[in-house]
Amino acid sequence: RFIAPQHVSQPEINHDRAIRPISLAEYIGQPIVKEQMSIFLAAAKKRNEPIDHTLIFGPPGLGKTTLANIIANEMGVSVKTTSGPVLEKAGDLAAMLTNLEAGDVLFIDEIHRLSPNIEEVLYPAMEDYQLDIMIGEGPSARSIKLELPPFTLVGATTRAGRLTSPLRDRFGIVQRLEFYNVKDLTSIVLRSAKKLGVQIDDEGAYEIAKRSRGTPRIANRLLRRVRDYADIKSEGIVDSQIADLALNMLNVDKLGFDHLDRKLIQAMKERFDGGPVGLDNLAASISEDKETIEDVIEPYLIQQGFIARTPRGRVLTDLANELCVNNE
Ligand code: ADP
Repeated sequence: RFIAPQHVSQPEINHDRAIRPISLAEYIGQPIVKEQMSIFLAAAKKRNEPIDHTLIFGPPGLGKTTLANIIANEMGVSVKTTSGPVLEKAGDLAAMLTNLEAGDVLFIDEIHRLSPNIEEVLYPAMEDYQLDIMIGEGPSARSIKLELPPFTLVGATTRAGRLTSPLRDRFGIVQRLEFYNVKDLTSIVLRSAKKLGVQIDDEGAYEIAKRSRGTPRIANRLLRRVRDYADIKSEGIVDSQIADLALNMLNVDKLGFDHLDRKLIQAMKERFDGGPVGLDNLAASISEDKETIEDVIEPYLIQQGFIARTPRGRVLTDLANELCVNNE
């Protein structure tokens, strides 16, 4: 799947390093998050304390990892990164925590996937900068307490509701990232193009932005593919016509929907008569797991007003029905 936001390839990681914003000033869009974070960061710096533990949630590719790194950067501290599924044993987390320097940021991506025994270790660490761990097994097992340096935990998750409430309650700052509007995405495309030395005009950037599902990661990915197309077909210059031709070739439609979006809408229309349909049935009918539907496909379709959630299940809106008619 071309624009699947969850999978990130190695060339993309390299490309990403070159264009990822490193300061709050470079972070485009998300005005509420930016305003709040600039105040919280300045206040923490003024008091010479680490900033409070911060939870960032939002669909993949909207800038959670970027923001976590910006927090560390703005505070002038290092960031250590891990993720929920990677931390298998309590000792893995203990090793990371004891390696932190005073003020450092510990970034845990996919924090909703931490196992319960690891969450238990995290609670006293977050609250009192204390590590309580058991060493040894059987009758010789004993618990030891270690003092940790003050630090900031930044957690990222696709949905705040996925976290257990004791964990959620321990975050002093909670930020929700929204899908980006086309204007902000246009600025992101122009900024990335400049960093990568791509020649693009405003209309070309706008065409890519419009078709990026409100998501910076997708905008940057499409820019790279449009650049390839322009390099071969038009001496490297991206204008709206070249962007349009390239995106059509890539099967990204005018609304930025990819084949999974279309598959979901089509299944809802043809197999469930526009709904209401429950998540289980929907997942089975398009052979995707429920999490992909809930975290990746559906949020954008709901935000754009094509699907609505009702107590009896998902339904297609009039807008989606019109779309189906127009496509027929
Ligand atoms: P997430 O962690 O939410 O999946 P990332 O932080 O990895 O998303 O962001 C994906 C890409 O989008 C990064 O390469 C980054 O360059 C770009 N990006 C994200 N947010 C912004 C922003 N606000 N301004 C500019 N670029 C952004």
